[in-house]
Amino acid sequence: MPETANRLGDLVNRLSNRLIWKFASRPKEVRTTVPLVSFTFDDVPDSALDAGAAILEKYGVFGTFYIAGGLAGQVEEERTLISPEGCRDLAARGHELGCHTFSHKAVRSYSAGSFARDLDRNAAYLGQVAGNRQPQNFAFPYNAAWPAARRELRRRFRTCRAGGGGINRGPTDPTMLKGVGIEQPEDKARGLTRVIDEVAREPGWLIFYGHDIAARPTPYGCTPETFELLVRHAVESGCEVLTVARALDRLGW
Ligand SMILES: [Zn+2]
Repeated sequence: MPETANRLGDLVNRLSNRLIWKFASRPKEVRTTVPLVSFTFDDVPDSALDAGAAILEKYGVFGTFYIAGGLAGQVEEERTLISPEGCRDLAARGHELGCHTFSHKAVRSYSAGSFARDLDRNAAYLGQVAGNRQPQNFAFPYNAAWPAARRELRRRFRTCRAGGGGINRGPTDPTMLKGVGIEQPEDKARGLTRVIDEVAREPGWLIFYGHDIAARPTPYGCTPETFELLVRHAVESGCEVLTVARALDRLGW
């Protein structure tokens, strides 16, 4: 009954994504007078490199790409995942490569030992493709944050990003950064200019996440036009568009 199991998994992910924020500790402060915006990608589909990275570069800014090595080169019905060469290209062009686990499973489903081994494996993969630079930041597969993994994650990464749908402001748990999805429907994705207006009005750190950037996007992606609209709007609104690592430097974390 894989379908029932999938549905149950989705439900647990949705519930835990909502409830999990109650377990956040708040040891760091997002204090900034300049609005900060980060564009991040998860998995990562090759169109995030071909279209997404190119659009960011057109505006002179860079993104963070959370890579799961186990997906490398995988061809799915609606998307193809980035190859090792694609990762190398991203890093060489100045983008940040983050960790998204190796085998892309919800963090709660690993035993402690298997989680550590999986993270080692992804670090080895990223090291291989990006000249031994270790990933500094992590994004939870399925945005399913898992506080029980906090110690292992804190030991390895500066931050971990989940969903949560809001702007990071004030006291913030670095192992549970909030992200805003650039997803279908397209008009909802285009409407995210409002969230940029919000962070421009009251500075904080807005982290977007997306997947594919394609003329016919999956439910988890958007079109190149919409992505460009958001990047341009952030730049023209006076936001500083930074990779996650650069934003952390800016915040002094
Ligand atoms: Zn993912």
